[in-house]
Amino acid sequence: MRDNPIVAGVDFDQRGVQHGHLRLPWSRDDSAWGSVMIPISVISNGDGPTALLTGANHGDEYEGPIALFNLARTLRPEDISGRVIIVPAMNYPAFRAGRRTSPIDGGNMNRIFPGRPDGTVTEKIADYFQRTLLPMADVVLDFHSGGRTLDFVPFAAAHILPDKEQEARCRAAMEAFNAPYSLSMLEIDAVGMYDSAAEEMGKTFVTTELSGGGTASAYTAGIAKKGVRNLLIHAGILKGELEIAPSQRLDTPDGRCFVFAQDEGLFEPVVDLGDSVQEGQVIALVHPVDRTGGEPKAYHARLDGIFAGRHFPGLIKQGDFLAMIAVPV
Ligand code: ZN
Repeated sequence: MRDNPIVAGVDFDQRGVQHGHLRLPWSRDDSAWGSVMIPISVISNGDGPTALLTGANHGDEYEGPIALFNLARTLRPEDISGRVIIVPAMNYPAFRAGRRTSPIDGGNMNRIFPGRPDGTVTEKIADYFQRTLLPMADVVLDFHSGGRTLDFVPFAAAHILPDKEQEARCRAAMEAFNAPYSLSMLEIDAVGMYDSAAEEMGKTFVTTELSGGGTASAYTAGIAKKGVRNLLIHAGILKGELEIAPSQRLDTPDGRCFVFAQDEGLFEPVVDLGDSVQEGQVIALVHPVDRTGGEPKAYHARLDGIFAGRHFPGLIKQGDFLAMIAVPV
């Protein structure tokens, strides 16, 4: 396979702190020999594992970039053993545009792995992670939040994996991250995910959904900042004590956890994130908006659990994700 066109402005084998860019050639009308410049930091000291930390895999999710721009600025080599590679905004064009997907090619970073070295801009970034960055890593943390269209109770997640030893490693790392909720996750659509790419290489992988709505709060940014430090301590890279608070374990056992809209209209939540719900309980109404007097469509929980995720905007369309019910363990 051909080489990836990205040129790293950092030396991954050098000790100390480096701030640079991954420079990806991007020829276009306003800059014939131009580039996408993706910020990257490498903090390295002595022997130890490598952590690969990413945010803005989707460009409109902000807790990850907040935690990682902060960490890149403040992490000192003398406080670590090993190496920390930080890319605060993985889909950098999407992040700069405040969008989930890239404004250059429409690429959704978490549906495009393993990418291609001769593909679109988004595919080239994915290929660089697939063949250059992921192979260097022992532990991989990819921050997500709901973005502009989703909202969640703040959780860290680990996947159900065929290799139970790896699954246990991922779960232990998720517990160390110590978000208010810790979720064993069933993916709706796992093909092309960065998660799967990391897991297929045997990496210890943790992801998150830390609220959403296309912004961050002090509370959720705090969860991200504490979580990444805890994860680095857990991995044996950062010196210090884990900061652990109670975390509710959740499971998503099957497809009944996910509710999708069958109609368009005005979205009225009947319960809020974190509320307990029972099978059959109405969780949301969707009102027809073309005239008054129409009955709203009621959506029900299909199992007992916690109202853990929801559609965020006030209007909803047919086929939109409407709610996630997760089951306390
Ligand atoms: Zn995301």
